[in-house]
Amino acid sequence: MRRGKTFIICGPSGVGKGTVVARLLASYPKLYFSVSATTRPPRPGEVDGKHYHFLSREQFQRWIDEDAFLEHAEFVGNLYGTPKLYVDKAMDQGRDVILDIEIQGAEQVHRRRPEAIRIYVAPPSWAELERRLIGRGTEDMEKVRRRLERGKEEFAVARDFDYFVINDTVDRAVEELRAILLAEHCRPDERITQIH
Ligand code: ADP
Ligand code: 5GP
Repeated sequence: MRRGKTFIICGPSGVGKGTVVARLLASYPKLYFSVSATTRPPRPGEVDGKHYHFLSREQFQRWIDEDAFLEHAEFVGNLYGTPKLYVDKAMDQGRDVILDIEIQGAEQVHRRRPEAIRIYVAPPSWAELERRLIGRGTEDMEKVRRRLERGKEEFAVARDFDYFVINDTVDRAVEELRAILLAEHCRPDERITQIH
């Protein structure tokens, strides 16, 4: 069976990555969402094992020591990492994998797995990003400020990505993500093997 492909979704905090990825998953049950581990406390409504594996710093360090992560990084005071095992299992089953991760993690995955497809999700404006992040109401103003700062600092690397999606409306962003997934499965190296 053909291995699945890895799609990395990156973009500033509050741009709507979680929102558009959730919509994408709802329409592609075969897609596998990589559930990350984090030391960040759960937000109201977040479920352990579904949105994240919520770990203590000690547990997280143990996973690092056991080489359980495909990548891991610190983001605004908390650790985040992608468990390797489930990603590989899903790909072996022919499923495409979605990683919603920040920039340092994306760079690590890119170095280790250059074939992974990198998609940057941008806001229509920085003012709108701030509205969304404040509107979500999950961080205090100091954390909001640090997350916004980080998003602006990292914006320059978006040029190196394979795709650039502007999350203006959710419908449009999801449509563009679907188009990217579809296009990536129309590459000759994949298609040519289907001709007998
Ligand atoms: P991220 O996962 O990138 O941090 P979220 O998916 O949590 O972002 O979205 C941040 C906030 O913005 C949420 O309150 C979400 O409902 C809202 N949001 C997401 N996409 C849009 C959009 N296209 N237009 C308006 N609000 C949006
Ligand atoms: P949040 O705390 O808002 O859920 O996530 C903060 C940032 O961490 C987001 O940019 C998100 O994409 C990123 N993130 C989530 N999981 C991972 C992960 O496994 N690895 C890395 N490097 N970043 C992650």
